[in-house]
Amino acid sequence: MILDLGRFKNLLKTLDLLEDFRDTIEWLLSQKEEFDLEWQAWVEEDAAYKKQIETFESDIKQLKAEIYDLKQKAAGPKNSPPSSPPSSSSPEERIIVSRYSGRCSDCGFEYAVGERIRWTPGVKGAKHQECPK
Ligand SMILES: [Zn+2]
Repeated sequence: MILDLGRFKNLLKTLDLLEDFRDTIEWLLSQKEEFDLEWQAWVEEDAAYKKQIETFESDIKQLKAEIYDLKQKAAGPKNSPPSSPPSSSSPEERIIVSRYSGRCSDCGFEYAVGERIRWTPGVKGAKHQECPK
């Protein structure tokens, strides 16, 4: 077999090309490795986010339940009778026997101890049962 120099040169060229190609493959493989690592990080982050979302959702559920309870408490027991309206009528005037002497707030004349007077609880002063005229 005679060594064909031209063919030999071509073979060397091809080897060079293959060498370049190998570098490219190695570079691509390294890129893939990097990408895989990044991908793995994304997957882990994603799982962490999902877990956080689950926690938030459970917290929201809990808060909703607490708000519902508070609303129920604020509304009061459902079957309680309506509270009676506050009486708007003023205290009634009474006829009493006076224990003190004083001045009638109607006519301005005095009344004596033991006299029957008109008196309203909570109101200052009293009146004769029947004012003298
Ligand atoms: Zn009077």
